[in-house]
Amino acid sequence: MEPETPTLLAGDPARLRQVLLNLIGNAIKFTTQGSVLVKVGKKPEAAADGELLFLVTDTGMGIPKEKLDAIFQDFTQVDSSITRKFGGTGLGLAICRRLVEMMHGRIWAESEPGKGSSLFFTCTLGVQKGKIRQPEKDAEKLGGVKVLLLDPSPIYLLAHKRMLTSWGMALTCAEDRESAISELKAAVETGTPYQLLLINCYQEKADGCKITEDIRREPGLANLAVVSIGSHKKCSSHHLARGGINCTLVRPVRHRDLLETILSALGHSPLIAQPKTNETAATPDATAMPLRLLLVDDTSDNRLMIKAFLKSTGHIIDAAENGQVAVDMFKKSPYDVVLMDVQMPVMDGYTATEEIRKWEQEKGLRRTPVIALTAHAMKEDEERSMKAGCDAHVTKPVKKAVLIKAIEDAISQLRQNR
Ligand code: ADP
Repeated sequence: MEPETPTLLAGDPARLRQVLLNLIGNAIKFTTQGSVLVKVGKKPEAAADGELLFLVTDTGMGIPKEKLDAIFQDFTQVDSSITRKFGGTGLGLAICRRLVEMMHGRIWAESEPGKGSSLFFTCTLGVQKGKIRQPEKDAEKLGGVKVLLLDPSPIYLLAHKRMLTSWGMALTCAEDRESAISELKAAVETGTPYQLLLINCYQEKADGCKITEDIRREPGLANLAVVSIGSHKKCSSHHLARGGINCTLVRPVRHRDLLETILSALGHSPLIAQPKTNETAATPDATAMPLRLLLVDDTSDNRLMIKAFLKSTGHIIDAAENGQVAVDMFKKSPYDVVLMDVQMPVMDGYTATEEIRKWEQEKGLRRTPVIALTAHAMKEDEERSMKAGCDAHVTKPVKKAVLIKAIEDAISQLRQNR
């Protein structure tokens, strides 16, 4: 999405989606290797605000020149032997053309056979009256921040570059780890170090953890903020668990998620789950970022059970067998949420929570939500855990849904208080 793309428009989202799905579906169908890129922006030389230009471009087999217009006619396919393999009716683009024309636009194709096709369409949407686009919250904090983007994939590079420059970040790109490391070192030597490294982990070409470990060993780079972007939640959890990386994101990366994560990594806001940007698109599990949890319980069966309950969430869970171990671990690395059993040997959960609160105050840190896990269902026990500094209370035997809800509530509470 080009930075200047108009938003707050009015139109028929279902029809727009239908056209896009058709073009994207074809692009994927006729491309065996490479990529499919979808772009939207303001139509060049647009007369009105709601005029958009969409582009779906692929690196597939392409379309012969003499067929570039014919494919928009009913029941037209370029090559029946090829399309027999892929299926289809030859009607999709004809329908797209009609829909686009009804949206006061035009659709056309350009192609270099053997290299790929680009399908363009324009449309004119209504503009929502009296609404003004709100500037992105806190984006101004990123103005001039020096960022190095390590990205071996030209397609992602393009997408991320646009987002970063739209916030005024001072961006340099590197395509491989060697050039990234030498660029970071050179910047330290000239006294203008980078503040952020963004690693796009794309297949095996960029192992974010390995690169970060190497970078952290270099003089002057131990405290560089590092954000990784991966394709799988598993990879993201793995990155955080291995340490070194401050925050991770899982593709597809939305504008706002990237912004909030970068702010987090730079210390402008706490490291917490990303807000769900599209409540209906997926389950909460799929949209939330994995959290780092500290689970404190003296019974190994309980620890196993809670880990099993939270497996589907992708959260990274460190475990401690008593309050003292938990406090030590807490002081060493940040956690998003602590699950605290109250009755334990060595140091109980109340004392451990008090210690955590004391330490946060001393260090001027934000308050990490602590959820007490207790066998006592009495009101006094709840009061006692709250008094010790816990934020919520879950009664044992712990139920999966109740626990997940308590964690979600704690995080959304934290977000509201920001
Ligand atoms: P179909 O159901 O056959 O895909 P469409 O009307 O969507 O019908 O497309 C018509 C024909 O145009 C396809 O059969 C294919 O030959 C060609 N075509 C469409 N998009 C592409 C593309 N991205 N790359 C190569 N050929 C394409």
